[in-house]
Amino acid sequence: MQQALADLNAAYRNFFASATGRRKGPKIAPPRFRSRKDRRQAIRFTANARFRVLENGKLRLPKIGDVQVRWSRELPAVPTSVTVIRDGAGRFFASFVVQVSAQPLPETDAECGIDLGLGHFAVMDDGTKIAAPRFLRRAEKKLKRVQRDLSRKQKGSNRRDKARAKVARAHAHVADARRDFHHKVSTRIIRENQAVTAEDLAVKGLARTRLAKSVHDAGWSAFTAMLEYKAKLYGREFRKTGRFEPTSQVCSACGVRDGPKPLSVRQWTCKKCGTVHDRDVNAAKNIAALGRREAQNARGGQVRPLVTAAQADEAGSHRGAA
Ligand SMILES: [Zn+2]
Repeated sequence: MQQALADLNAAYRNFFASATGRRKGPKIAPPRFRSRKDRRQAIRFTANARFRVLENGKLRLPKIGDVQVRWSRELPAVPTSVTVIRDGAGRFFASFVVQVSAQPLPETDAECGIDLGLGHFAVMDDGTKIAAPRFLRRAEKKLKRVQRDLSRKQKGSNRRDKARAKVARAHAHVADARRDFHHKVSTRIIRENQAVTAEDLAVKGLARTRLAKSVHDAGWSAFTAMLEYKAKLYGREFRKTGRFEPTSQVCSACGVRDGPKPLSVRQWTCKKCGTVHDRDVNAAKNIAALGRREAQNARGGQVRPLVTAAQADEAGSHRGAA
């Protein structure tokens, strides 16, 4: 309860600072009440609250007691806080905040640019294409069924509650699979490259179009966030290119701007130099070039010992923690 009050205090501070112009960045909305219907619940304990990880692997929580934990990994350091979460599917997670120092990997010369798309999940400037696993689309049948079951149950009934849990579990399954995929791809890319450049996508704008379902399904922003923190952790460089760069219009061989092309054009020939381009690979090449240019502009000592807080999403990276 104390932590909830502290969080509320911080939220109001941020809101007023934003409203009076003392805080930079986008306007911050006032705190909202939590939905009574929201099944996700979380409670955070800081070091002051005296939570403890016991020798026998249990987690001691004030006023709750010793809780059995199925650890997804060993804690790299003594945690400063723990958040216990019950998600919509009724699963419990303990998410720790830990200080980690950077674990730089041996340097390589490889660099890469990534074009994120809908046809393929990602296309690299060397021509590698990573297919998009359409988790949501594939799970749609099942989701449809459980959602229909839910809608037929009487409001307030026990059966409705059970059906609701089934829907939540189906969604959680999709989210888990997607996160797992993102982790695998991002780790591989960061391991293999010294510098990685990706587009800073206007996901919000795209998500309001007809492509919305596919855009959300791809989960680009979660993916680039992983690239970013993994780059820091492993001593790599992650760059974002501006979102208004015409990466799919410019010839990566001679630099001539060929004009906009509808999404249906997958391949084109440069009018000036005659190079035949795969649309996505060409875009990835341009992104890589932009990243190199940006790096030349901003050569500065950015190497500092790194403190990375545990990622918020890691709570879900293991299944069935009870
Ligand atoms: Zn050309």
